[in-house]
Amino acid sequence: MTDPTPSPRTPPGRTGERPYGDGTRAVRAGLPEPVKNEPTLPGPVFAAHYHLPGEVEGPYTYGRDTNPTWTLLERAIGELEAPGTDGAETIVFASGMAAVSAVLLSHAAAGDTVVLPDDGYQALPLVRAQLEAYGVEVRTGPTAGDAQLALLDGARLLWLETPSNPGLDVCDIRRLADAAHRGGTLVAVDNTLATPLGQRPLELGADFAVASGTKGLTGHGDLLLGYVVCRTPELAARIRLWRKVVGAIPGPMEAWLAHRSLATLQLRTRQQCANALAVAEALAGRTEVTGLRHPGLPTDPSHPVATRQMGTYGSIVSFTLPDRTHAGRFLDALRLVEDATSFGGVRSTAERRGRWGGDAVPEGFIRFSAGAEDTDDLVADVLRALDLAADASL
Ligand SMILES: *Cc1c(COP(=O)(O)O)cnc(C)c1O
Repeated sequence: MTDPTPSPRTPPGRTGERPYGDGTRAVRAGLPEPVKNEPTLPGPVFAAHYHLPGEVEGPYTYGRDTNPTWTLLERAIGELEAPGTDGAETIVFASGMAAVSAVLLSHAAAGDTVVLPDDGYQALPLVRAQLEAYGVEVRTGPTAGDAQLALLDGARLLWLETPSNPGLDVCDIRRLADAAHRGGTLVAVDNTLATPLGQRPLELGADFAVASGTKGLTGHGDLLLGYVVCRTPELAARIRLWRKVVGAIPGPMEAWLAHRSLATLQLRTRQQCANALAVAEALAGRTEVTGLRHPGLPTDPSHPVATRQMGTYGSIVSFTLPDRTHAGRFLDALRLVEDATSFGGVRSTAERRGRWGGDAVPEGFIRFSAGAEDTDDLVADVLRALDLAADASL
């Protein structure tokens, strides 16, 4: 099987003087050179092994190492995350956590120091425990106010998550990356919440952009996936070796579904981000709502930095209702919003985050993920559910 050649019709970037827009890049991302009588996006290749007479050579030998469906998806994600970074390489994984662990566990060894956020994704403390068990020193600080800057001395790796999940704080990637690089520290950014159309960490100085493709990247809530985009082939070689050793590979069907979903990334992101802002604005007028956070609200503490480094503000809104039962009544009363975890999908979801026990949040804290419904319908549903939840508390 030959390595599918990238299409000259889908370069990462420009037509004449002007770079392609996000929608154009999304619909064409990673497509191979057109071949007469072949589909635009070749179907998933299901293979544990490939014909391999004689010497071990060529791109496809064994299914844990390489797969043509991954190759196309990796190209697509690379075009979206790092269109201007020569030498950048993308590696896809079975899940976001497989990608997160690949970077942290392959690039830190006993005696090294790693700096993590203390308000990041709820499984990050589990990785921390693993790092410490391997003899890595871990320092943590909050995302807000670039507080991790103070912890960089002698560190091997700085891990950022911006906007943070679920608190929606934002840090200045460029500022932190410049400081980290001055001390020889590598920088990884969890880009799950923003998606590559919302934020491009490599352009802001990071060495790795890491994400769960389970969320907004693929957007339909029907698959798990992760990826790491590395600034250089040397950084990528270690990550690829890690994937081979651990075997945390995506199935061909998941990889193909993910690639298919990328075509609508801009359409979904636009509508979902517009809906998130509309929901946030509606919530801002309610007296029972406290702790309202959305980086797109001009009054939000994250707004100035988010406006500088993000193209969109994300599809998540966080807020707190008076207590656990009030929050429960609100979630029960919603008709267009499913009570479910995860986020970034085309169908709105919300949950009382405290039910998992992993995040430091109040009992009435809600993480709301805006889907692609019509804005008026979604806002009306939220306001109606708030009214019902408030009435019952009288
Ligand atoms: C969901 C999530 C992950 C983990 O992704 P999975 O695909 O669930 O393994 C990592 N980081 C962030 C910010 C997430 O939201």
